[in-house]
Amino acid sequence: ILNAEKVSKTFSNQQLVLKPTSIKINRGEIYVIEGKSGSGKSTLLSILGGLEKPTSGRVYYRNSSFYELNDEKQSEIRGKSFGFIFQSFHLIPELSVKQNIELPLTFNTVDNRLETKDLAKRLEIEYLLDKETTKLSGGEQQRVAIARSLITLPDIVFADEPTGNLDHKTTRKIVNLLSELSNIYGISLVIVTHEKKLIKEPHHLFEIQDGELRVKNRDV
Ligand code: ATP
Ligand code: MG
Repeated sequence: ILNAEKVSKTFSNQQLVLKPTSIKINRGEIYVIEGKSGSGKSTLLSILGGLEKPTSGRVYYRNSSFYELNDEKQSEIRGKSFGFIFQSFHLIPELSVKQNIELPLTFNTVDNRLETKDLAKRLEIEYLLDKETTKLSGGEQQRVAIARSLITLPDIVFADEPTGNLDHKTTRKIVNLLSELSNIYGISLVIVTHEKKLIKEPHHLFEIQDGELRVKNRDV
């Protein structure tokens, strides 16, 4: 469904942060990319998620070359077909939980959506819907962020250190929920993390080292 061909990234300081990298994202499958801080995880994820144009190479989404589409089409795809989860949640404090979850629907005219109540129920945050987000715990906030990333029933969810600030037990629970929901709805999941063995059995496991992506041996 998404196909990156030899994408690389050099920032203005001329350092090659991401070496030419190819990766194919299939429908409904889970991809985990492990790597140390500064290895290029966020850079790769941003390129795949349509947020940052690669210096070279192409990203094909449903067979069209994403960064060659016009801006309007690009943001339409980002809004409707991609979901994003960030380490620091990026919730809007002035809005309620329900409003935060439904935010992507207000920016886009969507053909698909999940029911907020159903989604909240699955994430066990139904009782929080009318609350302010500022009063929630980190784990609760991250569930809200997950619900928001799924509300448009996207094809792919990109998660950058989705559990970076949470304790170990909460991390497990959230990650299990996320992979369960990806299964239920047939959504592909691309997760970058510095944490090893974040998901027990992803369909694809990679490691990125100094901007170089490799398939990782599961036993290491
Ligand atoms: P972390 O685990 O700390 O989030 P990361 O693996 O996500 O790290 P990236 O954010 O992809 O790493 O950064 C990789 C390298 O690219 C780093 O050396 C970083 O300093 C550099 N870099 C990232 N963004 C920019 C930018 N906008 N301009 C210049 N250099 C950048
Ligand atoms: Mg990062």
